[in-house]
Amino acid sequence: PAQISRGSVEFRDVTFAYGKHAPIFEHVSLSIEHGERIAISGDNGSGKSTLLRLMYGSSIASSGEILLDGMPVADCYRNAQESGGVAFVPQRGELFRGTILENLTMFKPSLRRVALRIASDLGLDEVVYRLPQGYNTRVGEGSAEALPRGVTQRIAVVRALTRQPRILLFDEANAAMDSQGDERLRQYFEALDRDTTLIMVTLRPSLQKLADRLFKIEDTAVNPVRFRLDA
Ligand code: ATP
Ligand code: MG
Repeated sequence: PAQISRGSVEFRDVTFAYGKHAPIFEHVSLSIEHGERIAISGDNGSGKSTLLRLMYGSSIASSGEILLDGMPVADCYRNAQESGGVAFVPQRGELFRGTILENLTMFKPSLRRVALRIASDLGLDEVVYRLPQGYNTRVGEGSAEALPRGVTQRIAVVRALTRQPRILLFDEANAAMDSQGDERLRQYFEALDRDTTLIMVTLRPSLQKLADRLFKIEDTAVNPVRFRLDA
């Protein structure tokens, strides 16, 4: 597979339907420049998560083309374990069976340092150090430690950022965070360098304000609006 080096996204006349259901998207064309910041909004069930899955390649367009850096998404390297590429923070992130640290590094010890730095930036430290075993606390299926959803979401965000992706797809993964977690995330995104294309599904004005453009999903269309009109 080809490596993503810049992080642009292009849809050319994309139509998508789940099986025999009515199309979620019809004839959508859009283009996102590398380093751009996009917020995606739309009603419940309008297709926000589907749009991200199409960008990630885990849903496949019924017709049309989806290109990352000009290459078909199916040909792109998007293994979440490697640096660069595309990382996806799903709406309902999961913990793997292992320690919190392993959940951040995806069992790659070489990523430990960067994972812990990002965890600290996102305020995960303060939560984890309250646990007797800290980052060695065992989580996931069958573990004694049940973490609050908001903490699981922070772990999922750190895991994705640790990949230092060229494209970060973020699907409302702060919905369960407390206000402190939410604010640390906002600050992190605000400070993120323009080597990363940031595509966030979010209905929160605080995150939408970071975006260069807002994409509104309306019926089967994706309508871009220039944001920052007030800036
Ligand atoms: P939410 O605000 O709840 O997160 P969303 O905007 O992310 O919703 P999607 O999850 O993308 O919306 O779903 C869009 C539509 O497709 C919904 O009507 C949903 O029920 C339907 N849908 C989602 N996944 C599937 C699937 N695997 N098979 C069939 N229909 C699906
Ligand atoms: Mg969704």
